[in-house]
Amino acid sequence: MKIDIMTLFPEMCNAFLNESIIGRARESGKVEINCVNIRDFTEDKHNRVDDSTYGGGTGMLMQAQPIYDCYKSLCKNDEKPHVIYMSPQGAVLTQQRAKQLSEKEHIIILCGHYEGVDERVLEEIVDEEISIGDYVVTGGELPALILTDCISRMLDGVLRNEEAYSLESHYDGLLEYPQYTKPFEWHGKTVPEVLISGHHANIDKWRREQSIQRTKEKRPDLYEKFVQKDKK
Ligand code: SAM
Repeated sequence: MKIDIMTLFPEMCNAFLNESIIGRARESGKVEINCVNIRDFTEDKHNRVDDSTYGGGTGMLMQAQPIYDCYKSLCKNDEKPHVIYMSPQGAVLTQQRAKQLSEKEHIIILCGHYEGVDERVLEEIVDEEISIGDYVVTGGELPALILTDCISRMLDGVLRNEEAYSLESHYDGLLEYPQYTKPFEWHGKTVPEVLISGHHANIDKWRREQSIQRTKEKRPDLYEKFVQKDKK
């Protein structure tokens, strides 16, 4: 899978994407991620990519031309990649949406900055807007990195196996069960006996119950959806 990130701050993105699991996945070719500098495409003689907004207001807005030309440079042979604009106005990212996106061949992610982006270029190139939550951050880079990480870790061979992500929180609508590592006793607290019993069916049963219980306690909204789904 290929992910192109259109940004004004490629170094910021690469600093994160070259590390740890995603860094190794990139290096071994399990995912191709390119961070492309929108500024390289400006036709402005002073290298500007933003201007003031029509109608007034304090902030600056990213201009259409450099974004459009950057996008065109990434579409080879009349290909139409799926274009996502990271935006607080988009649908909030879910594990399910990230899983669907991980099945696409080529995604382009546009990071806004300042006040955002000229609406006309969004109308022209964007297929979908995705938000990381109902709050505003300075730029689209952190949101794009969250989306890229979330998609990439579900690609074949990036994690040890499919279970490494399919048993985690949110994959099937529940939160993950509590987990423990050595030592067996710490600060007077011991690990639940069932986990050292070696009885796999009992361990699975305990984990499922814990998963349901903690979803009910921590995320009653998710628990309600889970109960409704179970009824059908
Ligand atoms: N003026 C915009 C608004 O009120 O909708 C917010 C602009 S924000 C300061 C600058 C950029 O950060 C946006 O263009 C977007 O790319 C990114 N951004 C900010 N918050 C985000 C969020 N919750 N999810 C995804 N992207 C976000």
